[in-house]
Amino acid sequence: MKSIPYGRQTITEDDIKAVVDVLQSDFLTQGPHISTFEQKFAEYVGSKYAVAVSNGTAALHLCALALGVDEKTRVITTPITFAASANCIKYCGGEVYFADIDPKTFLLDINKVKELIESKPKGYFHGIIPVDFAGNAVNLEEFKKLADEHNLWIVEDACHAPGGFFKDSHNIDQYCGNGNFADLSIFSFHPVKHIATGEGGMITTNSKDLFDKLTLLRTHGITKNATEFKNSQETVAQGPWYYEMQTLGYNYRLTDFQAALGVSQLTRANDNLSRRRELAKRYDEAFKNSTVATPISVEGNAYHLYVIKVKNRLALYEHLRSNQIFAQVHYVPVHLMPYYQEQGFKKGDFPLAEAYYDECLSLPMYQSLTEQDQQFVIDTVLSFTER
Ligand SMILES: *Cc1c(COP(=O)(O)O)cnc(C)c1O
Repeated sequence: MKSIPYGRQTITEDDIKAVVDVLQSDFLTQGPHISTFEQKFAEYVGSKYAVAVSNGTAALHLCALALGVDEKTRVITTPITFAASANCIKYCGGEVYFADIDPKTFLLDINKVKELIESKPKGYFHGIIPVDFAGNAVNLEEFKKLADEHNLWIVEDACHAPGGFFKDSHNIDQYCGNGNFADLSIFSFHPVKHIATGEGGMITTNSKDLFDKLTLLRTHGITKNATEFKNSQETVAQGPWYYEMQTLGYNYRLTDFQAALGVSQLTRANDNLSRRRELAKRYDEAFKNSTVATPISVEGNAYHLYVIKVKNRLALYEHLRSNQIFAQVHYVPVHLMPYYQEQGFKKGDFPLAEAYYDECLSLPMYQSLTEQDQQFVIDTVLSFTER
């Protein structure tokens, strides 16, 4: 029996050729394909700037650094996300706060965020990290309004949602990562995500100032650009080899062959999206009259995950496994991780997130999932839940 994972990459002959071409060229790390990938990705999401980095977690870390997160910084995020959404604040010594989710969308509940902000003195918080969980785009227009009222920045964790959008108050499609509302947005190119480069990540923004900071931080804080040098003319003129380390940066570069793979993958991003939406529609239909709770159907959902909720989750998970279907749970709430419990969080703090976690299960969702395999998943689920 063949196994069906919850998510996987799709690699074509064109992808392979794109990588091999770079391997035979002069540049292995940060060459010409990096800026091509950045430009095309920015175009795809509708932002002014994009910065390619080594992975999504590095993208989050650089965002925190570029925004000046330090020991005095307090940031709010959702407990239903991958730990990295919160960890990036801890890397910089800042303090993480969580607010509960909206049980209908599974997204960070803006009303809970508002309550939290208003429960503290003015100026207490500094930023919000909403997550486009499962591919369902957060309404960032509303978050931006709240953020502006309290002078907060927004980093959108859009790892699940390249190509996703929400409808704003003028009924205009606002694409994840377009920079219209968030200061910075981040993406991951891990193989289970929409676009795969092995490891890889991207930060998008409309701010030239943040873009400049990010490109410097991505490569040790070093610049070779003469127009940016800070030292005296005499020092700078020592020779053409001269470079400056101006801030404490990291090596978070993406390789040029990964960028070439990203560019090639990006040409199929829209096909991938429509395929995911087709699969979601078929799941929606199949479970319509069953005891399986399906995710709310929203036009702009990019469907990184298809999350159902069932009462007897563990038994269904095991039943699927025994049929070689590897469903997954996204996520164990971040505030219940031992590391965050050490920071003072405990069971019961976010009851809606915890109730969600008790019943959630991510079914297979990826571009190359065939209708036949999906039908097998559906039949296997229903043979368990409806018996
Ligand atoms: C995958 C993911 C990340 C981290 O991305 P990596 O490329 O694996 O470092 C961060 N946030 C969310 C929501 C993710 O799904």
